[in-house]
Amino acid sequence: MSVRVVARIRPLLDKELDKDIIVKPDSAESGKPYTIVKIPNPKNEAEDFSFAFNSVYDQSTSQETLFTSEVAPHVKSLFQGYDVTIFAYGVTGTGKTHTMRGGLKLAERGVIPRLLSSVFRRGKKIMKDTEGNTTVRVALSYYEIYNDKVFDLLEPPEKRTPSGLPLRAEASGKTVVAGLSERACEDLKDFEKLYIEANNNRVTAATKLNAHSSRSHAILRVKLTQTTGDAVRESTASAIDLAGSEDNRRTDNGKERLIESAAINKSLFVLSQCIEAISRGDKRIPYRESKMTRILSLGQNNGITIMILNLAPMKSYHLDTLSSLNVSSRAKRIEVREIENEVVFKQFPKTSSTITSGNIHRQPLR
Ligand code: ADP
Ligand code: MG
Repeated sequence: MSVRVVARIRPLLDKELDKDIIVKPDSAESGKPYTIVKIPNPKNEAEDFSFAFNSVYDQSTSQETLFTSEVAPHVKSLFQGYDVTIFAYGVTGTGKTHTMRGGLKLAERGVIPRLLSSVFRRGKKIMKDTEGNTTVRVALSYYEIYNDKVFDLLEPPEKRTPSGLPLRAEASGKTVVAGLSERACEDLKDFEKLYIEANNNRVTAATKLNAHSSRSHAILRVKLTQTTGDAVRESTASAIDLAGSEDNRRTDNGKERLIESAAINKSLFVLSQCIEAISRGDKRIPYRESKMTRILSLGQNNGITIMILNLAPMKSYHLDTLSSLNVSSRAKRIEVREIENEVVFKQFPKTSSTITSGNIHRQPLR
């Protein structure tokens, strides 16, 4: 099991009034790719906190670059039978849906349509190369977890039962969602039709509950089945647009929102613990502690997990951004030798923005 945690800082949008950019990418050594995110300490703005990631993508990163760097390399592994799981984590408004789903224009397409396109292309090539001896089938499931209940997004909202779909433990020890629908998909057109319809279902269902779709986790599962004679190889790619990580107890403390917040906080907390445990190489991954990580069997099978932390660069997101960095960053305290600090101070006057490039802090979890 391998895990990568990367950050993506989105650009300022034209309509945004807050132009105060406080979140910045940085490199561990000058000239090297970005691996650090810097953000001021809210209690002492002269000081910066730094968080380390496997990679950091700045505001100019295109959808294509992100896909090519972080997801495309794993499509081959998926065909070799590994499970691939991709999460978008972050505060509402930071670009999770943009990263996963993206826009309709070709260049604006997100990770999900690009992944499907790549899977269909490779599948067709395999069938051609083996002269039809190997068949490749793709089937989709799409569901959301709202208040710890599972709802099928491929079914219309009218068909929902308030308690959601039950989970069932299979003989293999795997947990599955009982009664979750699965649709075969031949090509990208098939996929897009299903996906658009399902996303509409998601919004309609949320509106009925007077909620917002950012309060649920949306999980797309792509099941790949490769058959050669009697041999069947099955693997899955899961793409998850997580609920917003913001603590909305601060701003909106209605009863419904409090219940939502508790469910979201719990599942995101368990997720971060699983990611941390996997990255440490622990034997025991606490995946059973939340419904989402249980269904995904996170850390239980050989596979690849990629967590993308989406960040908005502005000051208006300061505290929520800091808390999302704390939860997702696997940053250990990076020891920087004195001498490096000196170089920094010699090159730059000691001003508020450059003072602590050598100090990597880690905040306790809230
Ligand atoms: P979230 O799903 O995290 O709530 P969205 O994906 O809806 O956030 O993004 C919020 C807004 O920012 C949207 O208008 C989206 O189009 C825009 N946005 C997000 N990331 C980018 C990006 N990398 N480039 C351009 N616009 C972006
Ligand atoms: Mg969203």
